[in-house]
Amino acid sequence: MKTNKDRKNLKFIIDDWIAIKKNPYIFFLIIILLPLIYFLVYSTGGIKFVYSHTMYIPIILAGIFYGPYIGMGIAFIAAILLGPLMPIDTITNEIQDPINWLYRMLIFIIVGFIIGYASKRLRKDALHIENLMSMNQETFVPNTNYLKKVYESLDFSTYSIITVLINNHHSIIDILGVTIYHNLVHQIYVDLKSGLPDKSYIIQSDSNKLWIMSPLKELETDVKRVITIISDTKQIKGIPLYVDFSIGASTCHSFGECKNMSVFEDSDVSARYAQINNLLYVIGDKEKYRRRSEYDLLASFNEALSSKETFLVFQPKIDLHTQKPFGFEALTRWIHPTRGSIPPDVFVPLIEETKLIHVFTDWVLKNALIKCKDMMEQSFNLPISINISAKNLYDPKFYERSMNIITESKVPTHLIEFELTESTLMINPNESRKVLQSFVDQGIKISLDDFGSGYSSLAYLTQFPIHFIKIDRFFIQNIMNDPSMLTIVDSTIQLSKDLGYKVVVEGVETKEIADLIATKGCDYAQGYYYAKPMPAKEISAWYNLNK
Ligand code: C2E
Ligand code: CA
Ligand code: CA
Repeated sequence: MKTNKDRKNLKFIIDDWIAIKKNPYIFFLIIILLPLIYFLVYSTGGIKFVYSHTMYIPIILAGIFYGPYIGMGIAFIAAILLGPLMPIDTITNEIQDPINWLYRMLIFIIVGFIIGYASKRLRKDALHIENLMSMNQETFVPNTNYLKKVYESLDFSTYSIITVLINNHHSIIDILGVTIYHNLVHQIYVDLKSGLPDKSYIIQSDSNKLWIMSPLKELETDVKRVITIISDTKQIKGIPLYVDFSIGASTCHSFGECKNMSVFEDSDVSARYAQINNLLYVIGDKEKYRRRSEYDLLASFNEALSSKETFLVFQPKIDLHTQKPFGFEALTRWIHPTRGSIPPDVFVPLIEETKLIHVFTDWVLKNALIKCKDMMEQSFNLPISINISAKNLYDPKFYERSMNIITESKVPTHLIEFELTESTLMINPNESRKVLQSFVDQGIKISLDDFGSGYSSLAYLTQFPIHFIKIDRFFIQNIMNDPSMLTIVDSTIQLSKDLGYKVVVEGVETKEIADLIATKGCDYAQGYYYAKPMPAKEISAWYNLNK
C-alpha cells in the first residue's frame, strides 16, 4: 500500500519530469555540457587541475530548472564522469582514490538537491502568490488578473461575452452585511461554474460585476442560460436571497479578438444600458456602437478645440420695437475631419459628462468676447450671449475663471449675457441663485433659455436674478397651427412683462410668425426669418445692411 507520503514524493518527481517536458532546451544543454566538461577536464590534464569545478554548472542548472531529483540525477552522472572515469593525471594515468570521488559525488548530490529544492520552493511560493493575486480574497472568485491565464488556455475562437451587473448589491450590503454579499457572489460563481459548459470562464471584475466567457452557441440562448442560473434563489446562511441584475452581452470571433479586454467593454456598455433602462438584458447592438463612436468623438474633442475644427457662429437677436439688431448669440460649430458637421445637440451633452465642459465654455466665452471686442472696435456695441451648462454653473471655479477671461477681454460686462435653462437652475436653486447673483452684481445679464420646456412657473423663477425670458422655439413653431400654443405664448409674454422681464422669442422662421409676435408685445426675436447663425467674418456686412 502506498502511503500519502509516497504519493507526495512521487508527485514531486513527476513534477520534475513535467518541468523537463515544458522546458526541454535547458535539459539538452545540460546533457551536452556533461561530456563537454568531461573532455575539458580530461584534455587539461585530469582531475587534479581546477577545471573540474566547471561541472557545477550543469548541476546548478538542473537544480534551478528541474528541481531536486533531476538536480541530484545530473549530480550523480557528473560525479561518475569526474569519478571512476577520470584519472588524477592523464599523463601518468594515475586513477583516483574511490574515497576522493565518492566524497565529491556526495557534495555534487547535496548541491543538486539544495539548489533544486530551493528553486522549487520559490517557484511554488511564486505560484501561490500568483494564485492569491488572481483571486478576489473576499469572494474567492477569479479576478481580472486571472484573465492572463484564461488567454493562455483559450480553446475556442468564438465566445459569448457576458457582463452581469448586480443591481441590488448596495441594499444587500446595507441590510445583511458585506460578508453575506461576498458569500452570495461566491454562490453565483459556483452556480455559474456548474451550470455553464466546460471551458467557460467567470471573472469578478468589480464588486458588483461579473464577466463570463463561454464557448459561443447562440448568444441569446447563452444569455438566457445565465439568467436562469442567476435568477434561482440563492440560500446564503439560511437566508433566501434574490439577485436583481442586468446583463449585457456581445461576442468575439477570433483568438485575437477574444484575447482583447475591449470585448468586455462592449458587453459592459450594453449591461449599463440595460441597467439604466430597467431591462433584464441587452445584446450588444447598434446602440452600443453608437455610444462607442460617441466616446471616440469625445476623445477627439479636446484636440478639435485647439484646431480650426471648432468655431463660433453668431445669430442676431432683433429688437422688435425698432426692427434693428439688438445682440448676438454665440453658437458652436464642429466640423469633424471624417464625420463632417456634428451638431451641438450631439456633442454638448457628451462633453457635459466630462470635465471638458469647463474647457469648452471657457473657450466659447473667450472667443465670443474676442468677436465682441472686434465689433466694438468697428463701433457697434452689441451684446453677446453665450450658453452656459449646468456643470459650469455648479463648478466652484467657474465664477473666477469667467471673470478673469472677461477682464482680459476688456469687454464691458453690460455687453455680456449668459443663457441658462430652467432645469439647470432647478438642480440646486440656492446655489444657482448665489452664482447668478455674483455675475449680475458684475453687470452681466442673465437669460432664461428654452422657457416652457421645463415645469417651473414664472412666479417661482422670480427668486432668480433674471433679465430675459427666451420662450422655447417649440411653442413659436407651432403657434400658427395650434391655438393652445398661441394662448401659452400670449400669457407667458404678459406674465413675464408683469414680472419685469424682457421677452425673447426664438425660432421665428416666417414673416407670419414675426408679424404675429410683434403684435403680442414681445421685446426681442431670434430666428431663421431674420438671420441664420453666421460666421464671425460675415457679421459686419450683415450689420451694415440691417442697422
Ligand atoms: P439653443 O441655445 O436653444 O440655441 C438655439 C438653437 O436654435 C441653435 O441651434 C440655432 O441654430 C437654432 N435656431 C435658431 N433660429 C432657428 C429657427 O428659426 N429655426 C430652427 N429650427 N432653429 C433655429 P444649434 O446651434 O444647433 O444649437 C443647439 C443647441 O446646442 C443650443 O440650443 C444650445 O443648447 C447648444 N449649444 C450650441 N452652442 C453651444 C455652446 O457654445 N455652448 C453650450 N453650452 N451649448 C451650446
Ligand atoms: Ca441659447
Ligand atoms: Ca433656446
